[in-house]
Amino acid sequence: MSAQEQKTCGRPTRSGKPCRVRIYGSDVACGTHATDEDRAFAAAHRRGWSEGYEQGSKSGASSAQSKIEWLERRVKELEQRLDDATRVHEIAGDQVVEVGRYAYRWRGGGRLEVGDRVLLPENYVSRMKNGPGPTVGVVSALGSTYRGELSFIVGRASAAEAEA
Ligand SMILES: [Zn+2]
Repeated sequence: MSAQEQKTCGRPTRSGKPCRVRIYGSDVACGTHATDEDRAFAAAHRRGWSEGYEQGSKSGASSAQSKIEWLERRVKELEQRLDDATRVHEIAGDQVVEVGRYAYRWRGGGRLEVGDRVLLPENYVSRMKNGPGPTVGVVSALGSTYRGELSFIVGRASAAEAEA
């Protein structure tokens, strides 16, 4: 005999003993003891057996998804803290800024601000793309976490100079 076949109502009877009427399938109590709620539950259970199962595995997946999203947020938060802690704003009196993905030193007049247009030294990529000479970039961040050798910004770009 399986557990399914042995399932009984189990609700307390007038004598105080659990009801021993056998129940089947989705039923949670026998016809005598089932409340409206029990009947509604059993009906929903029967109807949604496969549907509910699928939804259950979907909500399992979405909870894994939200865990991933939480972890991603947490990692970003910690990266930001690490960035703040390790960001260098000056090297030997020169201001350090980022232009796009790269960091540069600035020894020119005044402090650079985010959004300032500057002339970047030529490198092999800019030479290939735009020919020889400095290219125009826009300061995207103040300070940098980059630890390697930094090139110097050539100068401020005038409004007339087109962005590379
Ligand atoms: Zn019963």
